[in-house]
Amino acid sequence: MADLTTDVRYVKGVGEQRAKALEKLSIRTLGDLISYFPRAYDDRRTRKKIRDLEEGESACVEAMVAAPPTLSRIRRGLELVKLRAVDETGALDVTFFNQPYWRDSLKAGETYTFFGKAEVSGRKRSMANPLVEREGSRLMTGRIMPIYPLTAGVSQLTLVKAVTQGLDACRGLLPDPLPDRVRLDHQLCRAGYAYDQIHFPDSEEELAIARRRLVFEELFLLAIGLKRLRRRRDGLTCQPWEDTELVPFYEALPFALTGAQRRAIEDVRGDVASGRPMNRLVQGDVGSGKTMVAAAAMVCAARNGRQSALMVPTEILAEQHFRGLSPLLEGLGVSCALLTGAVAAKARRSVLAGLESGRIQAVIGTHALIGEAVAYRDLGLVVTDEQHRFGVAQRSALSAKGERPHLLVMSATPIPRTLALIIYGDLDVSVIDQLPPGRQKIDTFAVTGAYRQRIYRFLDKEIAAGRQAYLICSLVEESGGAPDDRKAAAAYAQTLQTQVFPHLRVACVHGRMKPKEKEAVMSAFSAGEIHILVSTTVVEVGVDVPNATVMVVENAERFGLSQLHQLRGRVGRGRHKSYCILISDSRNEETRARLKVMTRTADGFQIAEEDLRLRGPGDFFGQRQHGLPALKAADLTCDMALLREAQDAAAALLEEDPELAEHPLTARRVEEMFSGGEGALN
Ligand code: ADP
Ligand code: MG
Repeated sequence: MADLTTDVRYVKGVGEQRAKALEKLSIRTLGDLISYFPRAYDDRRTRKKIRDLEEGESACVEAMVAAPPTLSRIRRGLELVKLRAVDETGALDVTFFNQPYWRDSLKAGETYTFFGKAEVSGRKRSMANPLVEREGSRLMTGRIMPIYPLTAGVSQLTLVKAVTQGLDACRGLLPDPLPDRVRLDHQLCRAGYAYDQIHFPDSEEELAIARRRLVFEELFLLAIGLKRLRRRRDGLTCQPWEDTELVPFYEALPFALTGAQRRAIEDVRGDVASGRPMNRLVQGDVGSGKTMVAAAAMVCAARNGRQSALMVPTEILAEQHFRGLSPLLEGLGVSCALLTGAVAAKARRSVLAGLESGRIQAVIGTHALIGEAVAYRDLGLVVTDEQHRFGVAQRSALSAKGERPHLLVMSATPIPRTLALIIYGDLDVSVIDQLPPGRQKIDTFAVTGAYRQRIYRFLDKEIAAGRQAYLICSLVEESGGAPDDRKAAAAYAQTLQTQVFPHLRVACVHGRMKPKEKEAVMSAFSAGEIHILVSTTVVEVGVDVPNATVMVVENAERFGLSQLHQLRGRVGRGRHKSYCILISDSRNEETRARLKVMTRTADGFQIAEEDLRLRGPGDFFGQRQHGLPALKAADLTCDMALLREAQDAAAALLEEDPELAEHPLTARRVEEMFSGGEGALN
């Protein structure tokens, strides 16, 4: 008797070998297997007689192999199997490239189904590399085929077979996590039907019915999980903080805060005084001044005798924040320290001792802050900046170093409104929807490489006027990525320095540099000693050099729109007119359209929605940027209405049965969805 937690290797027809391969796709149980949904479908239902085949059309043909196939070796590395197949209307010439096994596996006189793209020239009809199976087999042909995301060592056929077996194994035992009432009220099909049809749909209509049900289920379970999380959190209490006089803080700033910044700070003050742990997201476009909200919160913590930690994703950013915040905080009597992987042993020991004794009240750093050796005397506030760069695990590791500390997360990744609806289910949100005064529009251009000389001349002019420029030349992320990318950056910088701008100072920074070197380059750039900074995307988040006015991005097509928006946000931070130039030689229309979006709008939210529309939600969920469980079925670009329905249904069910006592299966599925530490937002 199988159930969904059965190890996939025990599914009939799978076995050890395949189970190992499936493991690579994180398919470990029968449940994983049948929830491994196709990413697309290929309609192979069209059946044709040979005579009726049309040029370029994909179709199935039932035909008999007329004579034994022949194998010929054209040259090294090219083997051809040729055969002629016939039906009552004509002959089809079939060629296989480098698939010699077909010579022996296809027998003259036998009938097979060939599926492929027909080529027609005169009366001659042919197919190259068709799919072939025994007449009547219908495993790969004659129906709407699922197309699965694959990995090395797992073929479509392997998955098709395994899923078919898996569905067979579940027949009749698929429990339904949706209560009957909910299913009927919302006109959803049964689980078993949905799983069958999502993999092997009989028609487009049936696929739509299946999808609707599975998406609903997923959103429903997600909504229940988030609502319960929130309720659990609402039940927690902590010592309310004394209200802090912030006037000295405001007076210490070189500028007046915007209304939006003040509102966010007020929200934070309200939270920390409430007697419940704060769980707040501060969302604001790049340059909106989120750092000041963090600073205010850190002052409040210190005034209440509590420590605070500000965690950022990169060393560059940590150092920059430290440079910016420590004079401000120290000036207000808050002792401040920096802790990153780059801090030397001796200084490090002193910081660790200071945190443990409580001498240090505010610490700014990277994930070094959650290192095992780090102990806090009394961590009362955890701030994470650019929260999308952190896994939930890292964030909770930091929280775990205190006793129910207040949590403040800051993000410039504008979350599309659809996603927001879900995510905000668990976080309180302050939106900073106002930029500091005096910011000018950043003129943005999307051009081809043909403009490069003109761009260089333009850079020259800006730099002569006292400004600085960024030049982004690769897509490498700080972790992973091809090693050549940093070479590319270094080589590019070298060329610019020697051949284009011998009279200027050009430097290069990339994620694999030693922290010390990186810091040296960044602070030289900050200080205006470097004119042009060639970089990989390490400058993407948070870097703040107001004198830089030009951002040039090479191979702009490699970036997502939101990422480009982040990059663009590195300029236009001071009082000088700024520019962003996106270079791409891509002829792809969609790409050009994408880049055009950047020239049209400066609104991060609009860009994020456009990004979601153009690239699909895979990127949002794929990268797990939001600390939500990965969704398998839901496509949030078009499931807005269904999302509302599912949320209402979830609320109604919890109203009726808050502990899900009468819906144990629903409870278990929610639990599973949020297990593994990845799910919870806190
Ligand atoms: P982000 O929201 O992208 O993190 P930052 O906090 O880095 O933005 O602020 C961007 C720049 O704007 C910084 O140079 C900061 O000093 C400056 N800034 C922040 N708030 C204001 C304000 N109210 N008026 C003027 N400049 C401000
Ligand atoms: Mg920032």
